[in-house]
Amino acid sequence: MSLTFGIIKPDAVAAGNAGKILALIEANGFKLRAVRMTKLAKDEAEGFYAVHQGKPFFEGLVEFMTSGPCILLCLEKENAFAEWRKLMGATNPANADEGTIRKLFAESIGKNAAHGSDSEENAAIELAWFFRAYELA
Ligand code: GDP
Repeated sequence: MSLTFGIIKPDAVAAGNAGKILALIEANGFKLRAVRMTKLAKDEAEGFYAVHQGKPFFEGLVEFMTSGPCILLCLEKENAFAEWRKLMGATNPANADEGTIRKLFAESIGKNAAHGSDSEENAAIELAWFFRAYELA
């Protein structure tokens, strides 16, 4: 079993889709290891997305991610990061497969409902960024 990090983004929470997404996560065989609702501070969002600093969409991304509450997730499953990316679907919902979270709930590449770590290594870094060790024990 491995762990990955996910976020139910502010658009999905505001639209009242958080519960449906949590249900989909469980229906797809993930165990919820940690869940926390929060509103990201600007410096948290900027640090988290530092890899995108300087790109044309960076400021809009930070503004969006701090626009309202989101739900931070630690998910457990065999091959967790890849399985969660598969369930989320493509970054741009226009390219996302049927049945994926982004196909079902995202309205655009910017407001795309969910985040998921893109490797096991980044999952460990992102989990440590947002959760205390005791929350994952
Ligand atoms: P992800 O791993 O599928 O979330 O995609 P990336 O790591 O490439 O990008 C992080 C986030 O930045 C995405 O989920 C989008 O919310 C946003 N993003 C990425 N590319 C674009 C873009 O071209 N335009 C806009 N508006 N947002 C983007």
